[in-house]
Amino acid sequence: MKPSELDSIKVAVGNGRAVISADDSIIIAMMLETLKSGRSATFYVPPAQAQAVMRSYYTPRRVKEIGMETVSKEERRKIESELGVKDMGPMFSNRIQCACGGIYGAFEFMDQGIRQHGREWVGAVVELKKTAVLRINPTQDAFCPTCGDILITGHWYGMHAPNGTLIYGCCSGPDVFAM
Ligand SMILES: [Zn+2]
Repeated sequence: MKPSELDSIKVAVGNGRAVISADDSIIIAMMLETLKSGRSATFYVPPAQAQAVMRSYYTPRRVKEIGMETVSKEERRKIESELGVKDMGPMFSNRIQCACGGIYGAFEFMDQGIRQHGREWVGAVVELKKTAVLRINPTQDAFCPTCGDILITGHWYGMHAPNGTLIYGCCSGPDVFAM
């Protein structure tokens, strides 16, 4: 590690956030342990580490149970044209249906993310190279785009670069190893 690379670590730690450097297996074990504990954390890690966790979480059975789907090209185009977020690549998301009929999927998730964090932040995440953002047991609630009611069903997502590298994803549920 170059001395200049310590600067960003200084900033993060100065802001009260820990930065950990360890072997892949340690970091993956930490992420799985966090997942299992039900506690919430965001990991900024090399994509291969996040992908290892995503793979162990999104088993075919879980994908089916959650209703995880490939986000259509049309929806990705709508995210780009209406929300101004550059299309990254393959996206997966479940779609939550509200009692009022409103639907919450990838588009609504991105829309809500922009409103909460700003377009610059979302754009910067998309532009991160060689860093995947993995939200474990995220605490963010989803709200129906039509009636504004809070949606009790969780929202899951995975966003990838065109080559399949994970950019942004989530996994949640302490029951992960119960299945
Ligand atoms: Zn609704």
